Amino acid sequence: MDFPGRKILVVGLGKTGIGLCRFLASQGADVTAMDSATPPSLTAALEALRDCPVRFDLGSPQPSHWREYDMIIPSPGVPPESAWLQEAAAAGIPVIGELEVASAFLRLPVAAVSGTNGKTTTTTLVGEMLRASGKRPLVGGNIGTPLVDLLPAQVQADCWVLEISSFQLDTATSFRPQAAALLNISDDHLDRYPDGHAYARSKARLFQRQQPEDLAVLNADDPQVAALASGLRSRIYLYSGRRTLTTGAWRTDGAITVRLAGGVALEFPLAEILLPEAHNRENIMAALLLALEMGATPTGCREVLASFRGLPHRLEWVAQWRGVDFFDDSKATNVGAVIRSLEHFNRPVVLIAGGRDKGGDYSPLKALVRRKVKTLILLGEARPALAAAFKGLTAMHPATDLNQAVELAAAAAAPGDVVLLSPACSSFDMFRDYAERGNVFQQAVRSLAYGRQNSRLSLA
Ligand code: ADP
Repeated sequence: MDFPGRKILVVGLGKTGIGLCRFLASQGADVTAMDSATPPSLTAALEALRDCPVRFDLGSPQPSHWREYDMIIPSPGVPPESAWLQEAAAAGIPVIGELEVASAFLRLPVAAVSGTNGKTTTTTLVGEMLRASGKRPLVGGNIGTPLVDLLPAQVQADCWVLEISSFQLDTATSFRPQAAALLNISDDHLDRYPDGHAYARSKARLFQRQQPEDLAVLNADDPQVAALASGLRSRIYLYSGRRTLTTGAWRTDGAITVRLAGGVALEFPLAEILLPEAHNRENIMAALLLALEMGATPTGCREVLASFRGLPHRLEWVAQWRGVDFFDDSKATNVGAVIRSLEHFNRPVVLIAGGRDKGGDYSPLKALVRRKVKTLILLGEARPALAAAFKGLTAMHPATDLNQAVELAAAAAAPGDVVLLSPACSSFDMFRDYAERGNVFQQAVRSLAYGRQNSRLSLA
């Protein structure tokens, strides 16, 4: 991709937008940055770009003259369905994403992870496994530092481990990972895709540029993912938590077994793995296949599995109070993640769910709610939709905020029960992001457990 002298519009001045402006300017592009916000709320961005030759077009929801640009690069949070972006694309102006920009500059082998749920956990595991094996991976993509900011660090590294979202895949056509895993596909982001098929198609683009020597790692237990196998030209490893395979990774009695083509079976005993949940064991299988492909050693992988306790806000145990265990699963922003969390518990659950509805269908949760959820505490904008979906299946109580939700949940729980925040919705109606929601939950739980000893609230 050629940037010198080209007129490029970067849309959105968040972390990625700032990184893009800096990178494109360093490549000799003629960069304009636009953001619908006005300078007072963009102080940090403007400061970060103070020494960068960039023009600004601020304070209106669309640029004044989009027709004059050779290329438009929206940040990940900018809805691609915005009318002016659609018009620009229809007028033949390339509208591409950060991944596409960076793809041309990736000089090291790439392992990529995509899927509806489990991406960050799996990507982190692969990075740690490689590090524990003496490799120097660069870990990024949809997590943490934008990819363009990591490009200069390639000189001190030996491979990439990238978390890739479906939005990134939608605006990248030349991305070619040497090894890529697709973990699962369930309804999510239907607010940004016309339907589930469009979302699944977008996920499949992960493998689009792969060649026969590249590796695709596919979840054999997910029908939509497994169905892709027949259409790919890459080498394929499947993994399964349910059945034995001949190569790839699978569960045996007491272990995860991995066998690479032409290799011996490697055993990773469950007794040495800290993550207990079935879905995390699947993430581990995908991570092992990617990490071993990229040069990790079985010993390095074992070391990581014996110390990795999971990431914050992903089914994270917070405290026990009066015999009730409280778990923070604030990152569960879709139905698929909540299903796996509920499946994990075989004791009664008081579930706190709700937030901003993402247009998904809650009905796949019905059977589990009936079986496992003794009380459902409803939160945020999605309260009416959730109340309608689970009517008659369990006791339900609306809460005005997360603090009250925790108090209501604690009042409904008996010793031996679980209180689980697993919202099935995004957090943006009440919080900055899932992390803030999780922190507020944890704070509320701790003040119940360690602060005010007695909550007077009871359920009507
Ligand atoms: P992502 O980066 O894809 O959002 P995370 O690792 O951050 O994935 O986990 C997000 C949520 O999904 C958490 O609630 C977690 O417990 C759940 N989760 C993790 N792995 C899986 C999986 N393989 N299948 C379903 N849910 C999962």
